[in-house]
Amino acid sequence: MLQFSYPGPDLSVSLHNHSCWSDGSAELEEVCRKGKEAGIRVLGLSDHYVAAPGKGYGSEVWSMELSRLNDYRKTLLKLREQLEDDSFSLKIGLEVDFFFENADCLLPKLAALPLDYLIGSVHYADTFPIDHSILDWQNLTEEEKEKICEKYYEKLEAAALRKEFSFLGHLDLPKKFGLIDNVRYFPHALRVLDNVAKTGMGMELNTAGWHKECNEQYPSLPILREAAKRRIPVIVNADAHDPAHLQRDFLHASEILLEAGYPKRSF
Ligand SMILES: [Zn+2]
Ligand SMILES: [Zn+2]
Repeated sequence: MLQFSYPGPDLSVSLHNHSCWSDGSAELEEVCRKGKEAGIRVLGLSDHYVAAPGKGYGSEVWSMELSRLNDYRKTLLKLREQLEDDSFSLKIGLEVDFFFENADCLLPKLAALPLDYLIGSVHYADTFPIDHSILDWQNLTEEEKEKICEKYYEKLEAAALRKEFSFLGHLDLPKKFGLIDNVRYFPHALRVLDNVAKTGMGMELNTAGWHKECNEQYPSLPILREAAKRRIPVIVNADAHDPAHLQRDFLHASEILLEAGYPKRSF
């Protein structure tokens, strides 16, 4: 599995990207070809793998059918054979949802497969979908929102202790729709960072937040500053669901990282 050292890879690496095998718009082949054309040196595909531990999650709508995992890997292996050369490398990954109910059983199994990396993400607080729609949040009381955020961070804290993950995805995701006071959950985020540092995994600066209601990268600058103090490797990712976005806002991300105390990074 991929491992990162501080400060993290340069901007020619892009590892959090989706195809139509989960909720992206393009076929794997198109994403890979466009990534190579764009001059990306290391491109990773990380379609959603959500082994929901019960009914009522609704994840089948936006994640990969679990039985297709082997075909997903085979398709990417074929593309690797066709496309890899001295200046382009293709990595096979998954964005895996963390659930307390099945982590101990599922994650070692996934880590034993011939994949290059697993991104650890949390998209659910119980069956509540954190980032699905602003409508899910709008009718909640402050108390309900708080419970959801508490649960979210409780899960992420545990995910940050799993050695199977190469890095954590979009750390402060509940802020997405601009409906919670993100500052209030800063201590929660710090506990996640402490675990990330302890485990030795990385985290991402995810630029997709600039295109959501929160209008901010994940995670916030104060969290990135704390990550820099802990010398946590940061991987800049676009969480692209369209091959046109594979390096979207990477320059902006490098400026934010510099502000956070990370060294300058280039393409
Ligand atoms: Zn995600
Ligand atoms: Zn994603």
